[in-house]
Amino acid sequence: MSDTCRERIVTIDGPAGVGKSTISRRVSTSLSFTYLDTGAMYRAVGLKLKEAGVDLADAGAVRDCLDAISLKLLPARAGNDDVGVLLDGRDVSQEIRSPEMSMIASTVSALPAVREKLTLMQQEIGMAGQIVAEGRDTGTVVFPGAAWKFYLDAAPRIRMQRRAEQLRSQGKLVNEDELLTMIVKRDHDDQSRSIAPLCKAVDAVVIDTGLLSIDEVTEALLSRIQ
Ligand code: C5P
Repeated sequence: MSDTCRERIVTIDGPAGVGKSTISRRVSTSLSFTYLDTGAMYRAVGLKLKEAGVDLADAGAVRDCLDAISLKLLPARAGNDDVGVLLDGRDVSQEIRSPEMSMIASTVSALPAVREKLTLMQQEIGMAGQIVAEGRDTGTVVFPGAAWKFYLDAAPRIRMQRRAEQLRSQGKLVNEDELLTMIVKRDHDDQSRSIAPLCKAVDAVVIDTGLLSIDEVTEALLSRIQ
């Protein structure tokens, strides 16, 4: 990847429910950059391995399954929607967004074969530059040379409440205690895995989104980029 391309990459990492997706979408729209939702890719791979019934302890079987995968990110249908995903030609955009799939994505994301495959795919997408990459390791591992790196954070309870509102707005029933437990476990697992754990890049700007509105966080990022 040339230095020019590297310079034109924004990375936005942080724990679950911190507002990364909404903010990444807005920043990418403002800059006319492509939005790369790396979490959607881990979710789709989780679904693929689950449906194929692959034994996650069998590294060879995981690799074989991933060799045959076809994964395409689709632009969001509307401004506030998540990006879509085509898995082996099938639209799994809704299916991958459940709390259950969040936990499965987190489990498979610790597997070396999964990380290797998706990191390479993400770097290929980033070759052209002009992207806003969102995830857990985009500033540390996938695009260490990105020009603008951000790490968003907020207290677990605030993040749980935001996620609960989002699920309720989709007509889903929410048990807040269960949701908080899942968020805390996912953060812990993502932070403590041995490969590409969730952590702040040394050169990332940290923003606490707990007391700021989405507009304020977006402005804070854009003012540093521009
Ligand atoms: O961001 P999202 O909640 O969609 O991510 C789902 C899971 O995918 C995360 O909890 C994490 O385990 C994994 N992930 C990852 N590295 C990324 C993006 C997501 O390990 N860059």
